[in-house]
Formats: sequence, C-alpha cells, structure tokens
Amino acid sequence: MRVARTVAEVRAAVAEARARGATIGFVPTMGYFHEGHLSLMRQSVAENGFTVVSLYVNPLQFAPTEDLAQYPRDFERDRRLAAEAGVDVLFAPDDAEMYPDGPQAQRTVVSVRGLNAVLCGRSRPTHFDGVTTVVTKLFHIVAPDRAYFGQKDYQQALIIRRMVRDLNFPVEIRVAPIVREPDGLAMSSRNAYLTPEQRAAAPVLHRALSEAAARIRAGERDAGRVRAFLRETISAAPHARLDYAEVVDPDTLEDVDTIQGPVLLAVAAYFGRARLIDNMLVSP
Ligand code: AMP
Repeated sequence: MRVARTVAEVRAAVAEARARGATIGFVPTMGYFHEGHLSLMRQSVAENGFTVVSLYVNPLQFAPTEDLAQYPRDFERDRRLAAEAGVDVLFAPDDAEMYPDGPQAQRTVVSVRGLNAVLCGRSRPTHFDGVTTVVTKLFHIVAPDRAYFGQKDYQQALIIRRMVRDLNFPVEIRVAPIVREPDGLAMSSRNAYLTPEQRAAAPVLHRALSEAAARIRAGERDAGRVRAFLRETISAAPHARLDYAEVVDPDTLEDVDTIQGPVLLAVAAYFGRARLIDNMLVSP
C-alpha cells in the first residue's frame, strides 16, 4: 500500500491503475479506523481493481466549538489496518494540501439545501456544507467509479447521493450497513471519548431504536408516540443528554405523522463530550 500526501501523487497512482483497466473504489474517512471503516474498505477492495482511502480530518465540517483539535488520531495503526484490508493508496493530505490558503479562505462551497438543515443540521448548521465541499474536492482528486459510505451517517449518505445526482458526478454511491459493538453501540471514532460509565450507558441509543422498531412492526402507526418513546427512553439513561429523536421520511427527512411506509428513526445524544448518533430504517 502506498501513502500519498499530495493531490498529484494520488492522481498519478489512479491514472496508472485506470490505464491497466482497473475500476477505482474510494472510501473517504477521518481515520482512527474501526470495523465500520474496515467493512467499507473490504467492500471496495472486493468490488474494484483499485481502492483509495482518504484519511483527512476536515476542519471545514467542524464548528469552532466542536472537537476538531481533540479528534482521535493514530496514523501508524490506521496505515497498518488499511494495508491489511487490501487498500492500494492511503491518501493522507495535510491542511495546506487541501486548503492552500486555509479552510476559511475557501470561497466555493457545495450546499445541498434543505437536507443540510434538519436532524444533525439543526445543532450543526455548517457541518454538511463542510462535508459536501470536501467530498466534492476528494471526488475531483480521486475520480472514483464507486464511493463507499456507512449508513451510520444516514443523513450524510443521503446528502451525498443527492449532490451526485444534482451535479452529475460520474460516481456510483454505495451505502453499507452499520457495524455495531456486541452490545449494540454503533462503532464510532468518537466512542474513544467515553468514560467507562458513559460507555456503559451509550447502548441505550440502539436499545431505544430497536424497541421503537419492534413497536412499529407490532402495529404502532402514531409517529408522535414513537418519538415520545425514543425521547423518554434516551433522556432517562444516566449520562445522556438528548439532542434529537425523530421519525422521518427516509428520502426527504421530513417529519412523519402516520406511519404508512418505511420510516427512518434517527437519534443523537451527548454522553459527556461525545456526541453520538444512530439510526434505523423500519418498514411497518
Ligand atoms: P468517519 O471517519 O467517521 O468520517 O467515517 C468514514 C465512513 O465510515 C463514513 O462513510 C461513515 O458513515 C462510515 N462509518 C463510520 N462508522 C460506521 C459504522 N459503525 N458502521 C458502518 N460505517 C461506518
């Protein structure tokens, strides 16, 4: 596996692979790899002749009050895990390579309106524009045939799909299932922030989602009651501070009143300084 630090190095490696007929798979990440990341890498390796993984903690998607400086990093471990997963190029640029004049000097921003303002967009109003802008840059740098995202960040994947459609990106978006710890907690680099007590409480997110899904499958059709159940269950857990719990349309992210077709259950809560998210798609 090659480590590329510059845009020029990645482009040269991809051009070489394409010249010998390989399709290009791409997995954008912020590093501190866990099984969620590795599942995406393995899928890309299985489906493409050449896989590029980017490792970049993108300042543009963090608000000044958020955890950019503390975000966990372990480059040597990440390099080893990506190599073991069969990745061909690990693209790990620094800020100067991605934003030569600084992230705040970036004048061009890609914004998927509406979808960027609900759910996580309410408490993180600039987050998704940071994501879509950096993913646009990365798509132009790597020029992949397929790009892989996790359902863990359902809203992000939906927004990227919409961006690709609206702007005619020649890339196929693949979304892979959420990888969980044995007790149900969705794997996340931010789980590293949790104290043992917070870690013990955090599976409430998955428990609440599972129980709400069971109620819907058993005939519950009132989304308001499902929302209330999610909110009460999460708020009652020790160390949890609820951000949101919603029942929305999986395509538009608009609130649902009566559950008639598939719905997305989406939750976010703080456990200490860790803001954790989780979701579940449910069909009645
Ligand atoms: P991140 O490094 O957190 O930006 O995540 C990089 C990619 O991995 C994103 O597409 C995430 O949705 C995906 N991902 C993160 N956690 C998980 C998980 N537990 N299961 C599946 N995919 C995940």
